[in-house]
Amino acid sequence: MSKISLEENSVFNQMSQSGHQNVVFCRDEETGLKAIIAIHDTTLGPALGGTRMWAYKSEAEALYDVLRLSRGMTYKAAISGLNLGGGKAVIIGDSRTEKSEAMMRRYGKFINNLNGMYITAEDVGTSPKDMEYIRMETKHVTGVPESLGGSGDPSPVTAKGVFMGIKACVKELYGNDSLAGKSVAVQGIGHVGENLVHLLREENAKVYVSDIDEERLSRVAKKYGAEAVATHSIFDLDMDIYAPCALGATVNTETIQKMNCAIIAGAANNQLADEQVHGRMLLEKGILYAPDYLINAGGLINCYSEIAGFNKKRTMQLAENIYEATRNVLQKSKAENIPTIEAANKIAEKRIEDIKKIKASF
Ligand code: NAD
Repeated sequence: MSKISLEENSVFNQMSQSGHQNVVFCRDEETGLKAIIAIHDTTLGPALGGTRMWAYKSEAEALYDVLRLSRGMTYKAAISGLNLGGGKAVIIGDSRTEKSEAMMRRYGKFINNLNGMYITAEDVGTSPKDMEYIRMETKHVTGVPESLGGSGDPSPVTAKGVFMGIKACVKELYGNDSLAGKSVAVQGIGHVGENLVHLLREENAKVYVSDIDEERLSRVAKKYGAEAVATHSIFDLDMDIYAPCALGATVNTETIQKMNCAIIAGAANNQLADEQVHGRMLLEKGILYAPDYLINAGGLINCYSEIAGFNKKRTMQLAENIYEATRNVLQKSKAENIPTIEAANKIAEKRIEDIKKIKASF
């Protein structure tokens, strides 16, 4: 049989470049559902990752996003020591106008057909209510409300993980991990940011806060005794730690040049505009960067706990493990003189390879 020739940008080619196992396309005429479920790697366990609903401009854009995000989940689970693989799903459409109970339940049936290979959760454009609808059709869903026996809001767990990541960096630079007197600028004081400010102030850190929401800014500053700063002047601050907790790509060529801090450690996803370029720039400038996907893994830990039936105390203990995991990454980065993001990727890849070997030996 002749070998099929693949177009440069074919789905199989893209899957092979990113190392994907399965990509499932789901379509339902009646509800208008168009979803793509990407399962990157299940070496460590079932692929877990949220479902994003977004009005993508093209199918190609949706596919690109779901492949990229699901691969990231494999790394996040692996570095956090969780027995989970990486997956993610996207529903193509406007979540404000095109979503319905019927669509979510139909989508739940598609997930159910995968027999637990993929477990979903909330993401941009989906809500706890959507998880409830999905749950009516499948048990392979997490992030359902606490009232239904779920793990509820992940933000306190995420904030705890970020806090532990910050402490691990402080220990690396200053020899002890006390935050008393250290200055921290928290950019974005939403669900995670506010919880983080609370933890930082409990340890007597000097906290600066910034947010585009003026009302929230003055409320949080007053409540925790933090100093409010204008969004545009955050990089003018002379601070020990910059904690991005709003948007991605805030660490880029322009901002790195301006930055006057020793540590970057926050909750936002994809903080580095370009992983390789900016990871190296930070290494060369001597700014210690705590890899985002490691220290913001609390959300994933919360979902994992829900599946495993762990209580809140155990969940917080798992988030505390981020301290040691961050220490390991920083030590590897130092020993090999490589950017911390590269050290984290290597540790995650090694764990997957090691587990693959023991699985193959049975
Ligand atoms: P959120 O929407 O509750 O909070 C974000 C805050 O950032 C809002 O208060 C918003 O006004 C503010 N903001 C937006 N643009 C800003 C800007 N330019 N400057 C300053 N502030 C700005 O979101 P969240 O749940 O707190 O998550 C924060 C970040 O952490 C996001 O990037 C999210 O993807 C990531 N994250 C969150 C979790 C979680 O458990 N919630 C888990 C992992 C990663």
